[in-house]
Amino acid sequence: MATLRDIVYEHVREGELYEKLDRNRVRCYACGHCCPIPEGQPGVCKVRYNRGGTLYVPWGYVGGVQCDPIEKKPFFHAYPGALAYSFGMLGCDLHCAYCQNWVTSQALRDPNAVSPPLAASPEALVQDAIRQGAKVLVSTYNEPLITSEWAVAVFKEAKAAGLMTGFVSNGNGTPQVLEYLRPWIDLYKVDLKSFSDRHYHELGGRIGPILDTIRRLHDMGSWLEIVTLLIPGFNDSDDVLRRLTEFLANISADIPWHVTAFHKDYKMDDPEDTRPEDLLRAAEIGKNAGLRYIYTGNLPGMVGDSENTRCHHCHETLVRRHGYFIEEYRLTAEGGCPCCGTTIPGRWARKFDGQIADRPFRPRRRSPLVTILD
Ligand code: SF4
Repeated sequence: MATLRDIVYEHVREGELYEKLDRNRVRCYACGHCCPIPEGQPGVCKVRYNRGGTLYVPWGYVGGVQCDPIEKKPFFHAYPGALAYSFGMLGCDLHCAYCQNWVTSQALRDPNAVSPPLAASPEALVQDAIRQGAKVLVSTYNEPLITSEWAVAVFKEAKAAGLMTGFVSNGNGTPQVLEYLRPWIDLYKVDLKSFSDRHYHELGGRIGPILDTIRRLHDMGSWLEIVTLLIPGFNDSDDVLRRLTEFLANISADIPWHVTAFHKDYKMDDPEDTRPEDLLRAAEIGKNAGLRYIYTGNLPGMVGDSENTRCHHCHETLVRRHGYFIEEYRLTAEGGCPCCGTTIPGRWARKFDGQIADRPFRPRRRSPLVTILD
C-alpha cells in the first residue's frame, strides 16, 4: 500500500525556485532556509526533493479545502465579510510545537498527522471557489511558501476569473520567492511568532528572513496584516512585545496587528491558555509603539471593543465585529470614515455585500475535489 510519502513524491513537477549546483546538488529558494539539497534528498520541508539534479515540488493535489470567513485568516482590512476559499497542501519548513494546523503541516514528519490528499487542478479549485461564492482564494494550512509554484498556478487561474488571492504564511521568505509571487498575490498575512532569534531557533527557523520578508512585502505593495499568537511564558514578555510592535510601527503604523489567544494544542500543553487581560496588555504595548490598528482575537466578546475597526483620526467605529461576525459596516464606498473622511488603510469593496458565513464550512454541494489519492 502506498504511504503518504509515496503519494506526495509522485505528485510533483520540476520547480521554478531553485538553481543547480555542482555534484548534482540544487539550492532551493522557496523559503528562508535556502536548502542546498544533495542528490536523492529532500529539503527541510520534506516535500521538495532533488532527483537526478532536478528539484521536484508538490503539484496537483490539496491536503484540505475549506470555506472561511476572511476574518478567520485573519484579514480585517481586506474585503470584510468576504468568503475566503482556502486550500492547503502538505508540509512546513518550521515545526512549531503549538501548531494549530499540524495535521497538514506536519503530515510528513509526524505519523499521528494523517490527512489524505485530494487530487486537484487549478481550474477545479477556482470553479469550486466561485460556486461557493468566494471572493478570495487563499493558500493556507500548510506553509504556502514551500508550495509557491502550485499557488501561483492556482492564482493565475483565480485572477483570470476575477478573484483576489492571498497567503497565510509564517513569512520565512526570500527575495526570490517574493518576486515570483508579486504579480499574483493581493493579500499576505504573516504570523510573526516572536521577536527573539532564540525562540525562532526552537521552532526551526531564524528571525532574520522573516523580518526581511515583512519589510519587502510592505514595499512591494501587497496588503499586509500581521498576527502574533500570544503564548504565556513563550512570547508574551513586555520587552518582546515592545520590540516586535516597534519594528512593525517603524515600517508603517497602518499595518494591522492581530494579537490572538493561545489554547493548548499539538505538543505544547504546558502554558496556560491566554487570558483576556494578557491580550489587552499586549494591545496597549502595541498602541504605545504607535500602531493604529490592533485587534485581539480568539476570545470573542471578552476583550471590550478591540475586535472593532475604529477610525485612527476621529475614533468613530467603522466595522463592529463579534468573532468573525460583522455586526455593522460603515465605511464609505471609497474606504473612508463617514464622519471625518479619513482614508482607512486596506482593500475595501465599494459596498458591504453581507456575509455568506461567519464560521468555516466545507464546500457545499458536489465539489469537483472528490478523489482521494492512493
Ligand atoms: S522550501 Fe525551504 S525547506 Fe523546503 S527545500 Fe526549499 S528552502 Fe528547503
